[in-house]
Amino acid sequence: MSTKKQLFGIEIDNVDMQGAVDIVRSWVDEEVDGGCRVVVTPNVDHTVLLEDNVELQDAYRNAGLVLADGHPIVWASRLLGQGLPERVAGSELVPALFDAYKEEGFLDVFLLGAAEGVGARAAEKMARQWPRVNVVGVYSPPLGFEKKPEESEIILNKVNDAKPDVIVLGLGAPKQEIWANRFRQRLDAKAIFCVGATIDFLAGEQQRAPRWMQKVGLEWFHRMCSNPKRLVKRYAKDAWVFPQLVLRQMFGWEKQSA
Ligand code: UDP
Repeated sequence: MSTKKQLFGIEIDNVDMQGAVDIVRSWVDEEVDGGCRVVVTPNVDHTVLLEDNVELQDAYRNAGLVLADGHPIVWASRLLGQGLPERVAGSELVPALFDAYKEEGFLDVFLLGAAEGVGARAAEKMARQWPRVNVVGVYSPPLGFEKKPEESEIILNKVNDAKPDVIVLGLGAPKQEIWANRFRQRLDAKAIFCVGATIDFLAGEQQRAPRWMQKVGLEWFHRMCSNPKRLVKRYAKDAWVFPQLVLRQMFGWEKQSA
């Protein structure tokens, strides 16, 4: 169990990376079936989406772990007297969890999402780096799958036949959080991580920003340069709305209804 910090209407777990890994390990090891917990990792874009996306708000309310992915969230937490210990990015939590199984124990993982073939390539790399982490299944749902209920049934069958301990879900936000929340009670696994491009990173298909850029909070800039068409508009909106969220909490202003 961890305490929570209240930021922009989100309850964020007050844990560092090691604390988050320990919590997930305790879920995997627990005797009593606690169901499939959803792990969400808010960044600036999520805080903006959460303003008016009711399904995403519901996913966040039901999440088992809410981790600050993104330096601005951690900086804002300190400015607002809600100091979070550090950034816990989803794309770093997943390999950190695998590292925890380097010496002992085994972890069964399902890779769900990313483009066709990426999951298989990630599985190959993972087998070399983490021999005790078994990829028990990979699946890339077809484009638009979320609009067809039968496609979700196919996914549930594949995952539940494979019986993973954890599911790495990479569909982008807010699709992944909404899907995980909708089906969490039907997933036969201990945890599902909503972690965007993590499967691409595991496969080496996409490179994360250089370390120095991550450290000074410029990872968003690296991502934007790699895909400006998709991301410029998103980041411009985030840069406009996020400071307002910080000021709103700082001065106790009411949320304006749309
Ligand atoms: N993706 C997918 N199915 C979809 C939409 C996206 O598998 O219907 C995958 C895409 O291939 C990529 C990831 O979702 O692997 C997107 O991750 P990213 O973190 O870039 O998404 P964001 O949350 O920033 O939009």
